[in-house]
Amino acid sequence: MRGDFSYDVVVVGGGPAGLSAAIVCARAGLSVILLERGRFSGAKNLFGGVVYTESILSLVPDLFSEKRLPFERPVTEEGWWILSENGVVKITHTEETRRTGPPRAYTAFRARFDPWLEGRAREAGVLVVPKVRVVDVLREGGRMSGVLVDRPRSWDRPEPAEVRAPVTIISEGVNRILTRKAGLVPRDFAPEEVALSVKEVIQLPKGEVEKRFGLSEEEGLAVELIGEATLGLPGSGFLYTNTTSVSLGVGLFLSDFAEKGIKPYELLENLKRHPVLSRLLSGGEILEYGAHLIPEWGFEGLPRLCGDGVMVVGDAAGLVNPLFREGTNLAIYSGIMAGKAAVFAHERGDFSRAALYLYEEAFRQSYIYRDLKYFRKLKRFLRENRHFFEIYPEILNQVLHLYLTAQGRAKEEVFREIFTLFRKKRGLAGLLRDFLRMGRFLRGW
Ligand SMILES: Cc1cc2nc3c(=O)[nH]c(=O)nc-3n(C[C@H](O)[C@H](O)[C@H](O)COP(=O)(O)OP(=O)(O)OC[C@H]3O[C@@H](n4cnc5c(N)ncnc54)[C@H](O)[C@@H]3O)c2cc1C
Repeated sequence: MRGDFSYDVVVVGGGPAGLSAAIVCARAGLSVILLERGRFSGAKNLFGGVVYTESILSLVPDLFSEKRLPFERPVTEEGWWILSENGVVKITHTEETRRTGPPRAYTAFRARFDPWLEGRAREAGVLVVPKVRVVDVLREGGRMSGVLVDRPRSWDRPEPAEVRAPVTIISEGVNRILTRKAGLVPRDFAPEEVALSVKEVIQLPKGEVEKRFGLSEEEGLAVELIGEATLGLPGSGFLYTNTTSVSLGVGLFLSDFAEKGIKPYELLENLKRHPVLSRLLSGGEILEYGAHLIPEWGFEGLPRLCGDGVMVVGDAAGLVNPLFREGTNLAIYSGIMAGKAAVFAHERGDFSRAALYLYEEAFRQSYIYRDLKYFRKLKRFLRENRHFFEIYPEILNQVLHLYLTAQGRAKEEVFREIFTLFRKKRGLAGLLRDFLRMGRFLRGW
């Protein structure tokens, strides 16, 4: 890539957000260039592993006509495993319709899903240029007019080449460097506003995923791991089944890693040593190891979603709901909304913030905005109620152990022990306070 270029729309970043925005614009007949720093879309991306059918269908309605879907397994059983030091309480849900009806979610690898979506973007006419890093934004008369890339203009002009467009869509993911340069956020994020998650993909011998997790070949399990998984700190782990492997990961706020002196890989090693998990994963071979940040700045940290000639989508805008493991779908929805606003701006020949505000308006009417607002106190709630991760998983495991194992003791005695356990670990006033706090949090106060 050399020289300067001019397009209707330039998209920065080939994750689900950028690819979705690019597809919408190209399908409407606009000339679109998508710049991706990786060797291909998905090459530099890492996530836990669940993608949501509804969001993908809203972009690719003929998804099910694909010969080979870009997924691993349909998710047919979902829930939480609440870990104590040695035990686990499993709360999962499945029902027949999840096995027989169209799957609502799939496990997937980004190195397969993103290139597939990139293929759809190319089909729509998007010019996807990999191995190009956008280094700065271009401005003209106070508005954004494109980007500068890490390629020379020509052999005798070493300065960064310009890619011009009246609309730039920034979908750079969590690092939001360009979002800041575009003036959409005033500052970098703080360590308590992002989570760091580490993940391994562990290959199991053929047929073992089915055997160990009680699944058929057409079924998949996706569970979040709470309690001992994060050493009792606010955060969670995950275990998702792929065709012949398992994705296992765990994450904490970046600030907690720093404050507690925990090394990310040690956290994951600790999780793998848990007796329940180590048995399930025994003999597995590590195929992949990686770490990635998750934006958790939430409602209060929402950037301006658009400015003159520019919009920001997906993780770069902080559109993640960690409680419900939603990220890729919010990226896709926001990409679609921004893409539509870019088309509208081109129809009107007006690329001002007022014209692109169509995106922000659609966003404010969407469930993404409502959810972000509803859970705006999540970070504070987690920080102030760490015992939900520390004490309750342990209590729950102990209570169920006492209740469910016949111990040759009078049940009255067992109930008294359970009662004493609650009183000792949290106290009755503490229990009541937690109950009220949880209620207030869930009511969105
Ligand atoms: C550990 C982990 C587990 C997760 N689990 C799930 C899950 O199970 N389900 C779910 O829905 N979501 C999950 N998420 C969240 C989800 O991955 C993100 O919300 C989603 O990927 C955001 O998409 P995006 O397109 O905005 O950003 P990204 O997917 O991060 O894509 C950004 C792209 O921009 C490129 N880029 C960045 N800067 C530049 C530049 N200067 N020039 C050119 N290219 C650039 C990057 O290479 C990348 O390809 C998880 C995230 C993590 C970290």
